[in-house]
Amino acid sequence: MEKLSNPQKTIEILQKYKFVFQKRYGQNFLIDPRVLEKIMNAAEIGPEDCVLEIGPGIGTMTQYLAERAARVVAVEIDGELIPILQETLADYKNVVLIQNDILKVDIKELAREYGNGRPLKVVANLPYYITTPIVMGLLEGGAPVANITVMVQKEVADRMQAGPGTKDYGALSLAVQYYAKPYIAANVPPNCFIPRPNVGSAVIRLTRHETPPVQAEDPALMFKLIRASFNQRRKTLVNSLNNSPELSCTKEEAAAALEHLGLPPAVRGEALTLEEFAGIANYLAAHGAGKEGDR
Ligand code: SAM
Repeated sequence: MEKLSNPQKTIEILQKYKFVFQKRYGQNFLIDPRVLEKIMNAAEIGPEDCVLEIGPGIGTMTQYLAERAARVVAVEIDGELIPILQETLADYKNVVLIQNDILKVDIKELAREYGNGRPLKVVANLPYYITTPIVMGLLEGGAPVANITVMVQKEVADRMQAGPGTKDYGALSLAVQYYAKPYIAANVPPNCFIPRPNVGSAVIRLTRHETPPVQAEDPALMFKLIRASFNQRRKTLVNSLNNSPELSCTKEEAAAALEHLGLPPAVRGEALTLEEFAGIANYLAAHGAGKEGDR
């Protein structure tokens, strides 16, 4: 069967099945072989790998993945796409198709069943409406995942990769960078999809750290500090921590933590590195401060 990665073939299949795009599922299908090649290069799929593909759509990228990997497990929520996928993937015996919501799938279990003892590689043109829960679920959930190569909204890719002091830097940058090293592999314009999305897109690769790049004694406390500082971005860190309903931290305790780390008393969270957030969290934990319900 002719590959799907061109507009004519995609339209032919969609018409054959009278497929109606579901906006609520973030359906924008790739129709550009050059973009698919870029995704394959960024994902570095080898013949031993088991790939988890989230949202295969009509199977355009699944065909590329199946030609390179030992196995592809493709999880698609939309039941209307299943008969289409059964046709477009009929020649690829190494594809396992699962109809489910990826947010309800036990990925650890999936890795045990199909991973052959190796960590999964995740590759997807993501449904943009659930990018953050999918990516954070993969990073935080503890499933064996070596890397994640995904198409996301361009702004989201920029936020994941941003460093301190830039406008895109925020809680998502720090959460992603605690677990993985981000690298934007390509920017992708709307005309590479059917239908065209209203936003620009980018392919980002997240390579999981074997050990976190900073030593936080209590990562949950560090993430509370991070959320508190970016919820009130324009306030000083001392005020943000003191105002946070998630924390119990006096201004004096926050000021002492900053002084201990040699940071200016009026510093804002947006100027701090992950290492500095870890340092503040460690100081507060060691001095019995910071946790909610202490007082
Ligand atoms: N991979 C295809 C491609 O590149 O042409 C389709 C990508 S499209 C942007 C996103 C896909 O994710 C759609 O097929 C959509 O139905 C599916 N999807 C949306 N929400 C999902 C969910 N919660 N779980 C699994 N798949 C989902």
